[in-house]
Amino acid sequence: MGGRFRDSTTWPAYLPALVRCPRCSACARVVRLDDAPNPLRLTCPACALVHGGRGLGLGGGDLLLASTTEERTWRDPDTREISTWPVAEDEVVELWLRTPCCGEVLWATNEEHLAYLEDVIGASLRERPEARISPMGRRWVGKGLSSKLPEWMKAAKHRDEVLAGLARLRRALADADVEG
Ligand SMILES: [Zn+2]
Repeated sequence: MGGRFRDSTTWPAYLPALVRCPRCSACARVVRLDDAPNPLRLTCPACALVHGGRGLGLGGGDLLLASTTEERTWRDPDTREISTWPVAEDEVVELWLRTPCCGEVLWATNEEHLAYLEDVIGASLRERPEARISPMGRRWVGKGLSSKLPEWMKAAKHRDEVLAGLARLRRALADADVEG
């Protein structure tokens, strides 16, 4: 690796995401389906668990699948007080590609996302994305996607540790492939 890196203006797709199955700890997969209203689906090839979700959250090496059930409201007939409660809890599962790094959690949802991080962190020279002409005739230069990455990940003093963490994620990805 090393060499030149050109910041893309397209963030890598988070889905399909590899996660640790909440039931059997094998490598499961979260994909987006077209059929709303529950477009997210976790499937585990090892134990056949299928779990739906309405929305996606990512952070700290976890993936949140929003509950498939809408919140219900209920009005007390006497006090007229309205109560709200979710019928089912949101499901939080661990990403398959996560590792402690620099006191934080280094994570990626899939191979494309991992490859992007390897490119950004591994690059010795970063270039700004190319300027574009907007439909209004304005010239603008998009902010590089690496500007979205946390500072600790880009800090020069952390570079070796982050690269080692990315290598661990790469090995974890190979494990996932072995298990199918
Ligand atoms: Zn499973």
